[in-house]
Amino acid sequence: MSHDSRSSTPSAAPAARPGAVEFRNITKQYGSLTVVNGISLQISGGEFISLLGPSGSGKTTLLMMLAGFTEPSAGQIMVDGQRTDQIPANRRNQGVVFQSYALFPHMTVRDNVAFPLKARGVPEARARELIRTALMRVRMAGFEDRYPSQLSGGQQQRVALARATVFDPPLILMDESLSALDRKLRQEMQVEIKDLHRELGKTIIYVTHDQEEALTLSDRIVVLQNGRIAQVGAPMDIYERPRSIYVASFIGEAN
Ligand code: ADP
Repeated sequence: MSHDSRSSTPSAAPAARPGAVEFRNITKQYGSLTVVNGISLQISGGEFISLLGPSGSGKTTLLMMLAGFTEPSAGQIMVDGQRTDQIPANRRNQGVVFQSYALFPHMTVRDNVAFPLKARGVPEARARELIRTALMRVRMAGFEDRYPSQLSGGQQQRVALARATVFDPPLILMDESLSALDRKLRQEMQVEIKDLHRELGKTIIYVTHDQEEALTLSDRIVVLQNGRIAQVGAPMDIYERPRSIYVASFIGEAN
């Protein structure tokens, strides 16, 4: 029997999915205050990770460092094997949905969603197509000429999602994004974010102090305590086997 050398060659390992993140011994200090204290964590491309912890535990600071909005005092952050400190924040291939980075009030929905494309020099015809797709994905087609003040909270949130995903980044960073919404809207948006994650397969890193939200959305939860990782694991693992009273008080059976 003839032997086809090509088919007998072991196939190469599948390429890792984009959007992989690695925190290497990251510390952040403000003066004498250490707010992130030697965090190391690996996140695979396509994972949905929640950073969970009470106010002041360092969640936002960790995300801000990944976003490039502030620099670590020590340690390195890698995205897809590349050191992030070598890429300017506005050139990083990541979408951000931060409370502090709300929609631009003086711009229409179209111009808000177009913003990251303009910053990246995407030609206009292509930009129009991408904006249309992004707005359709979040069910906001038809709202192009509205201003943010003419939208409900949930609609604004959807447009913010469209803006963060319009340039197809492998990594999306979300900070307490839903905390301003009422309970019903929050639940609706959770479903949408989960669908978006399923549909687009992007890495999502999601900051929340809401344990239910973290349990519902995440592949893994990182519980933070005073700038350190108290526990990392799949939601059910952490829920059923909290490693400390602290974790239990947040997420476990004892809650
Ligand atoms: P979380 O998101 O878990 O609420 P943060 O990362 O926002 O926590 O904050 C962690 C700690 O760092 C808090 O004690 C906060 O007051 C402090 N902190 C955050 N930003 C600054 C800053 N720019 N200057 C000084 N302290 C800060």
